[in-house]
Amino acid sequence: MKRTFRALAAALGIACLATQAYAQAPDARMTAFDAHAGAPLPIRFDLPAPAGGHNVVLLLEKLHSEVELDGETARIFLAEIDGRPGTIVRTGDSLDIALDDDVDAGRPPFPGEADGEQANDLLSVPPQEQLARRARGDETDAPDELHVWMFLHDAAGESSRGAFLNRYVSWWVRDMEQAVRVGVPVRVTLRSAVPGITDMDYHAGSSIERLRELRDRGRAYVRAQGGKITSLTKFMLFVGKPPANLEGGTVGAAIEPFGAAVASSEGHRHVVAHELGHLLGATHEDAENRFFCITNMKDSLWGAIPCRYYSGTNDGNIRRYVRARTGV
Ligand SMILES: [Zn+2]
Repeated sequence: MKRTFRALAAALGIACLATQAYAQAPDARMTAFDAHAGAPLPIRFDLPAPAGGHNVVLLLEKLHSEVELDGETARIFLAEIDGRPGTIVRTGDSLDIALDDDVDAGRPPFPGEADGEQANDLLSVPPQEQLARRARGDETDAPDELHVWMFLHDAAGESSRGAFLNRYVSWWVRDMEQAVRVGVPVRVTLRSAVPGITDMDYHAGSSIERLRELRDRGRAYVRAQGGKITSLTKFMLFVGKPPANLEGGTVGAAIEPFGAAVASSEGHRHVVAHELGHLLGATHEDAENRFFCITNMKDSLWGAIPCRYYSGTNDGNIRRYVRARTGV
């Protein structure tokens, strides 16, 4: 994915402020939330607001997908907050609210970079690698789920996991459940502080080498955890500064045959969904400009708001990709 404009400062600054505000008064909010979130949904209740007063929360639905953070389950809810649609992520130590209409656009372009330039962020594997891969017969287990292992790089600067999930993951999970509907469960496991992976020098060498390393170390890690590796086991390294081994301005990369991708927080909010899309058969060509927003497989455009969903054609591409591997 290409970064065609100064991506982060404004929107992230706002997001960080909100997160800190919530973090300063966590207990009353979390207690009030937990008191209601276990009841049958939908349910409406008052949630103490960080700055005093309260928000009216209508908790609509809990997403089914299993999202796990360093051994704890994260719960993701669809909700209305003071009448505005959004998602609420409750992790072991945080409660994060994101509104669907949080604006993620209008940032000034990077100097010297053209808007709308497409990046070659879907990297191809050298032919000898493909032959070696076939000979190894790497993926032996039959997939019965789509499992994304997401590693948060030590230098990514993501202090609130709840906010991270809301910014990049919760809406993707919702879209996968409700629109893409791949026919098997979607599972996201987020891990931080994994030696050899989250401290990787991802700037070094070539991006192909680093993504191969991510795949190999990721597989070893998953196997050591007792997990299985299938053709629907995908690895994502989430980083702060974009990899120096990518063309300038590129904020993410993916190699589908490796099932491995990297995404930088300097990209648009859909950078994670974009690179995951590459790992699941979605294409730039099938992305769409909508009237108000750009779909996930479009590169970031200045002033464009990510729709936070794929185009219908890419929904179909992803469904076909998954079903070809699961038979579902
Ligand atoms: Zn791309």
